[in-house]
Amino acid sequence: MPSPIETIKASSNFLRGNLPQELTDAAPGFSPEGEQLIKLHGFYAQKHREHKDAPPTAMGRGRIPGGRLSAAQYLVWDSLATQYGDGTLRFTTRQCIELHGLAKADMRAVVQALHVVKATTQGACGDVVRNVLYPANPTGRPEINALQKVAEQLSTHFLSRAAAYQEIWLEAPPSGAPESEPLMGSAYLPRKFKIALTLAGEDTLDVLSNDLGLAATLDASGAIEGWFVFAGGGQSMNFAGTAFPRLASLLGWVEAKALLPVAEALLGTFRDHGDRENRKRARLKYVLHDRGVDWARSEVETRAGICFTQRPLPPWQTPSSHGWQKGPDGTWALGLSLLCGRIEGELKGTLRRVLETHPVDVQLTAEQDLVLLGVPEAAKAEVSALLGHLAQPSPLWAQAVACIAQPLCAFAITEGERALPAVLADVEHVLADLELTDRAPVLRLTGCPNGCARPHAAEIGLIGQGIDKYALYLGGKGDRLAFHFAERVPRSEIGATLRPLLTRWKTEGQPGETFGDFAMRCLQVAP
Ligand code: SF4
Repeated sequence: MPSPIETIKASSNFLRGNLPQELTDAAPGFSPEGEQLIKLHGFYAQKHREHKDAPPTAMGRGRIPGGRLSAAQYLVWDSLATQYGDGTLRFTTRQCIELHGLAKADMRAVVQALHVVKATTQGACGDVVRNVLYPANPTGRPEINALQKVAEQLSTHFLSRAAAYQEIWLEAPPSGAPESEPLMGSAYLPRKFKIALTLAGEDTLDVLSNDLGLAATLDASGAIEGWFVFAGGGQSMNFAGTAFPRLASLLGWVEAKALLPVAEALLGTFRDHGDRENRKRARLKYVLHDRGVDWARSEVETRAGICFTQRPLPPWQTPSSHGWQKGPDGTWALGLSLLCGRIEGELKGTLRRVLETHPVDVQLTAEQDLVLLGVPEAAKAEVSALLGHLAQPSPLWAQAVACIAQPLCAFAITEGERALPAVLADVEHVLADLELTDRAPVLRLTGCPNGCARPHAAEIGLIGQGIDKYALYLGGKGDRLAFHFAERVPRSEIGATLRPLLTRWKTEGQPGETFGDFAMRCLQVAP
């Protein structure tokens, strides 16, 4: 039997439901059906878990392919956070911006203000194709500009074709024309579907953690020749083992012109074979796990009318976007490290002033950071004086990521973002004692096993397992899942737990060996 959410979507008249009435009634929040439907318009209902009497609010998330924004767009998001939200912006691991603490009565004004600068929340949440990722491009590399074009094309192509978003939020008059969703179907997708694009051999996005991962190969002129296609990745799990992280499987390589048919075929495979009864098993990764990679490859080939070819995949590198980098046009990019992507207080005001004075584009990264693009030489010293201190933090802090968790995430078992500074200070102390500060591992922390900060792709993954307790995973990276190392480590003992492991790495590790590689080689306990 379909899950209740499937029934809500299918009977919603293409996502309208009762939302027009609910948006203007006197109730502070939405009905249970309304809470489900607003997700497919880019909003989540929120309840503050520490202020039980506070009225319900909503989180609004932007769909921003590749996290690329003009200064004008960024400044609107900034103003909306001040005017309608909790005064902060939050950058996500999918290159989105989130506004938290929105009152129901203000949600329409938020969407309409975003629409003025061609920004939107449509397609950022819910059972649809989510924000499409591509890598940060500090130096304006033409091959990444080419990825940007493809990402924007995919993002638009897979948007809902119904007019509900325009009618409900932008108050467009109904056209009365018949509607359909030729790609997703009238019940939309069984769950979310994530797409990321990168260049073959470069991965700053954890491409294999996506439902559809694409890695471009280039021809002699530098144009996109074709794509390695990966399917069925995802980081969420549970501690019972019935849900688990999975790296996307390589289906093969296709020519550039086959990309859209292949993406549609994989989406259709998910739409038709994803589990619509049990949402905990509804992601594409379980279709691949249950039916096998060969079945999925054959299904996509048949639906798309193509044949994958098999080619060797180059090894992955992970270039950094932090610090100043000069582009071929003589302008500069400044990559900032922003802890948990939270923009508030003095930093929020400084970023605003910089972008008002020097209206350059920005790009959000999959590590919750921000890159200022195309800064003129004449402005470099001034921008450096204001923001340069964020460009070169210690390696541990620069690479760390945490999810939001408490107090606003309904799934949080324990702290995420709020715990990270103390955890990093603890681990930094150990690294300093061992003179390993410059070789700090990638550490990611989440408040529950849903994996929003991609902990299974980190050298040290901490996953909320109880109040102030974390399961410890080790050895992950973009193309390798971390292994489980320890249960229920108290937050205050994370540094002490890691100390002997980092000590062994220092004394027994091979020259140049990362902590993750060492952990895989030496710290796995045989079952
Ligand atoms: Fe919430 Fe869990 Fe995601 Fe963290 S990982 S934001 S606690 S769902």
